[in-house]
Amino acid sequence: MIIQGTNRGADVRERADVVIVGTGAGGGTLGAFLAERGWDVVMLEKGGFFRAEDFTQREEQAMSEFNGRRGLDSTIDNALFLNYAEAVGGSTVHYWGDSFRTPPDRLERWRTASGLDWMTTSELDPHFEQIEQELGIQVTPEDLLNENNRLVRAGCDALGIEGHPPPTARVGCIGCGWTQFGCAYNRKSSQLITTIPRVSKAEGRIYSDARVERILLRDGRAAGVSGSLIRRGTGRVLASVQVDADVVVLAGGALGTAELLLRNVQDAVVGRRFYVNPHYFVWADFGRDIDNVTGIPCAYVVHGFRETRTDARGNYQGGGYIMLSNHQAPGAAAVMLGESGSAHTERMKRYRRLGSVMSVIDEEHPGRVFLGEDGLRRTEYNVRGVDQRKAVDFLKNAARIFLAAGAREVWIPDVYGTVIRDESEIDQLITQRSVQPNAQFCAGSHLLGTAPLGSDPADSFAGPTGEAHRIPGLYVADGAAVPGSVSVDPSLTIMAVARWIAAALHERHGRAGG
Ligand SMILES: Cc1cc2nc3c(=O)[nH]c(=O)nc-3n(C[C@H](O)[C@H](O)[C@H](O)COP(=O)(O)OP(=O)(O)OC[C@H]3O[C@@H](n4cnc5c(N)ncnc54)[C@H](O)[C@@H]3O)c2cc1C
Repeated sequence: MIIQGTNRGADVRERADVVIVGTGAGGGTLGAFLAERGWDVVMLEKGGFFRAEDFTQREEQAMSEFNGRRGLDSTIDNALFLNYAEAVGGSTVHYWGDSFRTPPDRLERWRTASGLDWMTTSELDPHFEQIEQELGIQVTPEDLLNENNRLVRAGCDALGIEGHPPPTARVGCIGCGWTQFGCAYNRKSSQLITTIPRVSKAEGRIYSDARVERILLRDGRAAGVSGSLIRRGTGRVLASVQVDADVVVLAGGALGTAELLLRNVQDAVVGRRFYVNPHYFVWADFGRDIDNVTGIPCAYVVHGFRETRTDARGNYQGGGYIMLSNHQAPGAAAVMLGESGSAHTERMKRYRRLGSVMSVIDEEHPGRVFLGEDGLRRTEYNVRGVDQRKAVDFLKNAARIFLAAGAREVWIPDVYGTVIRDESEIDQLITQRSVQPNAQFCAGSHLLGTAPLGSDPADSFAGPTGEAHRIPGLYVADGAAVPGSVSVDPSLTIMAVARWIAAALHERHGRAGG
């Protein structure tokens, strides 16, 4: 049952086997697993509840109604825009649905560096398979590639660079182009239409507009959560909500979980590492209308640079990112394109001629999440050191791919107005100055690592089972729990980790309270 907090005037007091904070990739997956196995589940979500008919395909409506902080969240120096959703279904309401299994090299890193013995393909493959089946994940069909996707592929093919249409979480997609603003046709397999209805069917209660503020402890053990029911849009507090439970699971995303922990728990590990996979954007004018507004945003992924190349001494030589072909709606494009005044107008006039790719940088220097002196949540993130070199390498290779595909001009949307018309200009014009903080629009939407799993309490918040080292009964099962960058889009990793944690929880406790 969905209960919309924005419509409630009375206080809520519930008792459940498990209370889950957040309804996104992690929370939805874990909630459905447990609810279908007899657990009495309550989920609390601070964002609103939307149906397909609420998604009007208007960018400004979606950004103001369910984007976190209405599209205005950024790091303390405004150098990096943070992109996430607050809604029933979490950021999967926004997401594009690219669904990659965790690369084996990443699992090995987490096994060895974080002591997570279960991070093996044999342990996780059954979970990946099940989630893929439940979400209808399949390789993007050829007819959903738009002209931008095809051009990126053509550029890669001409240069011998590896790329593929990605596995995507959609069933019967019609390629309307508005994925990011909520699917108006219920064809994108967000948690909103997959796991959340399953929780509901298994008699779980899902409260929207329910912001959790406190983690309740009894004898040092997690015993529930409490917070406020809030009016959607204004944030006005309408009533209180408290759920007493044997198990408390935090799945508020890397920002939401970190914030809740910072306000409730003394643990120096929380928020200390914050991964975002920095996204830079490169644009290309093909001199003809390529209609990169329809189709799905990313139907072609460039994998050829995923692994970081180093020389025998370990010096960076290239790579360390994937590229996603992408499109941006007009408002976002206007912000990202750089330039101002008439130059900006000229750029926007060419909007329908533009192709675009973005980076997913596998960073080595994470940022942090903390509470400011005013008590507000703050984030700090600098693309620095080798990560800047990865960013420059991305800009150069993106330019090469677009020129090979026939672009007339490639735009690096930096404050210097860098335009590349010929391969010979790339090394001279694209340099580190383009990726200095605030030199161009940069974003992060793969938010990870702020309350990581691991075997060492000095370096991780929760142990390998997802249970906090210092607070029995408190679990983390979302992007916060993932120990670092996945090196590809992370949603399927988050879901598999959450499902593994749920399965282990169920195996240990069976139906709690039962
Ligand atoms: C535009 C966009 C496109 C993306 N595309 C892709 C893609 O193609 N492939 C991919 O793999 N990933 C993609 N991602 C990233 C992916 O969506 C996220 O990594 C994933 O959803 C994170 O899962 P999560 O469970 O950690 O958090 P979320 O899914 O963000 O869910 C957390 C939920 O918790 C709620 N919450 C937080 N704090 C509280 C609180 N105190 N009380 C109550 N509720 C709370 C939030 O409102 C939110 O709804 C994209 C993201 C964006 C923004």
